[in-house]
Amino acid sequence: MVDFTTISPHIFVKISPKAKRLALRLDGRARRVNLVIPKKASLKKAYEFAELNSAWIKDKIEGLPRPVPYTNGTILPIMGINRTLRIVNNGGKTTQITLTDAELIVISPLDDVTPRIGRYLRNLALEKLGELAHLKASQLNRKLSKFVVRDMKSRWGSCSTDGRMTLSWRLIFAPMASIDYVISHEAAHLHHPDHGKKFWELCEKLSTDFTIGHDWMQKNGVSLGRYGEIIQ
Ligand SMILES: [Zn+2]
Repeated sequence: MVDFTTISPHIFVKISPKAKRLALRLDGRARRVNLVIPKKASLKKAYEFAELNSAWIKDKIEGLPRPVPYTNGTILPIMGINRTLRIVNNGGKTTQITLTDAELIVISPLDDVTPRIGRYLRNLALEKLGELAHLKASQLNRKLSKFVVRDMKSRWGSCSTDGRMTLSWRLIFAPMASIDYVISHEAAHLHHPDHGKKFWELCEKLSTDFTIGHDWMQKNGVSLGRYGEIIQ
């Protein structure tokens, strides 16, 4: 078996029946470079190709926003407001997490609070993003039949015309204008499944600040993947 990790630990091999040629594609949110190998291509050739491009891979990965683990003193931009993460290790039995205007305070007996903070923020996203999603749907005289948050690899959300909306919980780290834009975008799919002219008109109408929200996501969306546990 060919071991591509000797070139870079960030290489992720994808054997594709559809691909015509070898290709490298940066997946910034997963912090990896996908090496696309056509089904019929030789792995030896693929290895040589990746090796030839190893400097490119290194540059791309190093150019990504640095990961921000959940450690004491870390700044987390929760709903666009910078909050300092305060982790207090105590001898108690349970973990308590409190969000204030300036801080996210975690009081816990656990050595590793990362999974707990992750769960807290997911729940916060479910509640806060959910409120806005239901509101936008009601502005269209529609109801969401299902609303969930997940870690999504290649997009920020999805919504079917029959009312099932999914959002990336990582949107909780975005400014409000961008949260509003993404939710308006998904809500607009309740009426239009495509990205045609009518869809964009509705999306813009639903958004409180379409241009700022949309442009921020285009430029900085990738940075939302860097907090806490990184998607694998
Ligand atoms: Zn869309």
